[in-house]
Amino acid sequence: MITSRIPGFYNMTVEERRELLASKHVFDDEKKGHSLEQDALPVTTADNMIENVIGTYPLPLGLGLNFLINGKDYIVPMAIEEPSVVASASHIAKIVRNAGGFTTEATGRVMIGQIQVVGCPDMEAAKKTLLAEKDALINDANAAYPSLVARGGGAEDLEVRLLNENSDSKYGKMLVVHVYINTCDAMGANIINTMVESLAPTIEQLTKGKVFLRILSNYADRCLAKAKCVIPPELLATGDFTGEEVRDGVVHAYEFAASDPYRAVTHNKGIMNGIDPIVIATGNDWRAVEAGAHAYAARHGKYSSMTTWSTDDTGNLIGELELPMSVGTVGGSIRVHPMAQVAHNMLNVESAEELAQVIVSVGLAQNLGALKALVTDGIQKGHMALHSRSVAMAAGATGEMIDIIAEQLIKQKEIRVGKAKELVEEYIK
Ligand code: NDP
Repeated sequence: MITSRIPGFYNMTVEERRELLASKHVFDDEKKGHSLEQDALPVTTADNMIENVIGTYPLPLGLGLNFLINGKDYIVPMAIEEPSVVASASHIAKIVRNAGGFTTEATGRVMIGQIQVVGCPDMEAAKKTLLAEKDALINDANAAYPSLVARGGGAEDLEVRLLNENSDSKYGKMLVVHVYINTCDAMGANIINTMVESLAPTIEQLTKGKVFLRILSNYADRCLAKAKCVIPPELLATGDFTGEEVRDGVVHAYEFAASDPYRAVTHNKGIMNGIDPIVIATGNDWRAVEAGAHAYAARHGKYSSMTTWSTDDTGNLIGELELPMSVGTVGGSIRVHPMAQVAHNMLNVESAEELAQVIVSVGLAQNLGALKALVTDGIQKGHMALHSRSVAMAAGATGEMIDIIAEQLIKQKEIRVGKAKELVEEYIK
């Protein structure tokens, strides 16, 4: 694996970047690096993935660089349309790298399958019966997916919850069975759904109730990944701002997000700016990750910041991010989407647990990138510099004209398509 420090990558042409990566064997073979567009997703493959296909919808794929996590280098594939995100992640990863890198941990790969039972004549008695049959139910669930058990995973535990015990509505009262399943390196939605569906007839028999829903929970709070960084303030200094000023600004910004849902939503959106692109690039289900992450941000009863930022006794800035991370390195679209396979090869992770830890590290970096900009120059300076290029393109600029028009827009502090059109017309004259 090559280092993820690639100075000057930003200034190379796309072709030069591909050549470099191919020469370092970052792609699994040289050909793949040169055929990223044509092989990205053949329409015949897409037609077998979803319904009513009429084409494919490409996104830019950039690389987050400089990531050092638990002493290992990662080149991070990021599929995203928003400017600045990849640059910002790489910038912060470089700072964290100089501070020793990210450290991470994970709780394991236990996902939850839910079975909803209604209409039991005696809910308490039904619960007791199910718990008495716990081992048999776990065995039955595993019998529905023996290959998972053979890999060292499978159903491990089972709990029964009573919801709305005192509800007067005939629809309110229910019993919910939670089956805890180690899905190994798969995200596990289909695996879990197969397992819980197989239990439904037995559960109806045991409870004398009716089973309705049998599906995984995307609130994967037993499949957590956590990233941490410790940054000496001197590494945070920028422009006219001292490292201490930036550090204190970041902690103040965190306290704002921790106290106010209006701010927390935007704060967390910035975290997902880092998380979604790698989840998408690796062929994972970003809706599932999004849903779980936001629910986890509200786990204490109020929607709050996903990250925490504080200082230690020596004045270092400490950042932490813990989230449910139901991602896989196998299964789902990963096995059919050629770009997902390229992304996994680039990342070089050995397990879903390792992938989850890389993802939260990127989310933490992205958060610091946004906060550092917000508490210093403001977000627009960096953002608009890149945004100006797409504004120039929207106004009809092509080739070398794009950079020229973008530069003029920034200079004149008017990054609007209308203004860009005027400049393009002048340029063409
Ligand atoms: P799959 O149905 O593809 O199952 C994963 C397969 O990978 C397993 O069946 C297993 O097959 C194989 N496998 C190979 N190696 C391993 C390993 N080391 N660990 C585990 N499995 C391995 O995908 P998932 O069950 O992961 O489901 C993910 C998909 O489900 C995503 O596309 C998601 O969008 C979708 N989905 C999401 C839902 C949600 O979030 N609410 C709901 C429904 C679907 P074998 O054992 O036969 O070798």
